[in-house]
Amino acid sequence: VRVILFFGTRVFETLMNVVVFVCHYCGNRVDQRVMKSTNRFTLFFLIPLFSLGSNYYVQCTNCGGVTELSRQQAEHSLGWSAQNRVA
Ligand SMILES: [Zn+2]
Repeated sequence: VRVILFFGTRVFETLMNVVVFVCHYCGNRVDQRVMKSTNRFTLFFLIPLFSLGSNYYVQCTNCGGVTELSRQQAEHSLGWSAQNRVA
């Protein structure tokens, strides 16, 4: 019996946080979704084996405009929303 294994990569997207600020694409103050996009090496395109690296971006819920973030900025965004909750 020959078993054929299919390996590939797949991007998994995770919502990290939602922050509110003025979008520099559409100029509206709306929710901005902080997303983590992880490229994973997969077996049969379904089973994630390990991560090949992550990148981060923020996406406007109004216009869909995407801005790349560094990992530090994405992690810092958790602080922004904590500050907004206090204020
Ligand atoms: Zn926008």
